[in-house]
Amino acid sequence: MTLRGFKSFASATTLHLEPGITCVVGPNGSGKSNVVDALAWVMGEQGAKSLRGGSMSDVIFAGTSNRAPLGRAEVSLTIDNSDGLLPIDYSEVTISRTLFRGGGSEYAINGESCRLLDIQELLSDTGMGREMHVIVGQGQLDAVLSAGPEERRGFIEEAAGVLKHRRRKEKALRKLEAMRANVDRVTDLTTEIR
Ligand code: ATP
Repeated sequence: MTLRGFKSFASATTLHLEPGITCVVGPNGSGKSNVVDALAWVMGEQGAKSLRGGSMSDVIFAGTSNRAPLGRAEVSLTIDNSDGLLPIDYSEVTISRTLFRGGGSEYAINGESCRLLDIQELLSDTGMGREMHVIVGQGQLDAVLSAGPEERRGFIEEAAGVLKHRRRKEKALRKLEAMRANVDRVTDLTTEIR
């Protein structure tokens, strides 16, 4: 994972996350949690609060006493896909996300510009999805244990890869509804003309 201008990582910083356990150690406030935030962010996290900020632009390096603020934050994550777990024809997949201070953001898969939805769909059957079950934050374990049945069902659906289809279904239903309204309008018009 490479961070550029993301939170406290002003200069390009690359972390190699090898199979097995990786530990990040450092003094308080040195940026350990920022590394985890970067991971969530590049995978499509949309909630500024989940990233411990007030607004999304808070992820952009805000400057220090000896370094000026930066105009953009960028994180890219290269995933070894030699086992073909990600449904894409590449043995290595790089997803990246950029946010500009002036507004606007970009997502890319292997350097090709794409939509957030493409990244979400790419990751959705791997358990690395938007709902972040791969990242268990402080106090989150309590939240899972005390979740209501609806919420718990959401966790299970995401893990089972059902959520993607539910989202697609909801989108299709909305389109169908709009189409139905169009048909009604056309029917009204033909009745009027007759
Ligand atoms: P702890 O051990 O206390 O949990 P940590 O190592 O997890 O600390 P983080 O919370 O990752 O530390 O990092 C906090 C630091 O990141 C703070 O010094 C904060 O000023 C800095 N920081 C956060 N956002 C930005 C930003 N946009 N620009 C510059 N620095 C930032």
